[in-house]
Amino acid sequence: MSNTIFHKIIRREIPATIVKETDDYISVHDIAPKSPIHVLIIPKKTIRNINDVSQKDTELLGRLLIGAKEIAELLGVQENGYRLVINNGPDGGQTVDQLHIHLLAGRQQGWPPG
Ligand code: AMP
Repeated sequence: MSNTIFHKIIRREIPATIVKETDDYISVHDIAPKSPIHVLIIPKKTIRNINDVSQKDTELLGRLLIGAKEIAELLGVQENGYRLVINNGPDGGQTVDQLHIHLLAGRQQGWPPG
C-alpha cells in the first residue's frame, strides 16, 4: 500500500484543510505555503509522478486540470491569475512521491523559478 503523507491525508489519517474533494482528487491547503494562496490538488489514484502516467490516465489528468480551474474560481483568483506547478523527480523539486499539482496565487509569481 502506498503510504505517502498525501495517502494519509486522503485516508483521513492526518488532518488537512480540505478545499475540495471529488471521486478523483482531494485538494488541500499546503502546510508550508510558498505564496499567499497555495493549494495542492492530489489524485486519489496512486501515481508517483508524471513519469508513471500512461494513456489510460488521460481523462484523470484532464479532470485534475479542470479541477484546478474550478478551485481557482472557488478561491476567487481566476481573474488575477495563478500558477500551476508539477514538481517531478529530484531535480524538479518533488519531495512527496505522489503526483500533485500546486496552485499558487495571491501575488505575482516570479519567473524564472529558482
Ligand atoms: P513537492 O515538493 O512538489 O513534492 O510538494 C510537496 C508539498 O507538500 C510541499 O509544498 C509541502 O509543503 C506540502 N506538504 C507536506 N506535508 C503536508 C501536509 N501534511 N499537509 C499539506 N501539505 C503538505
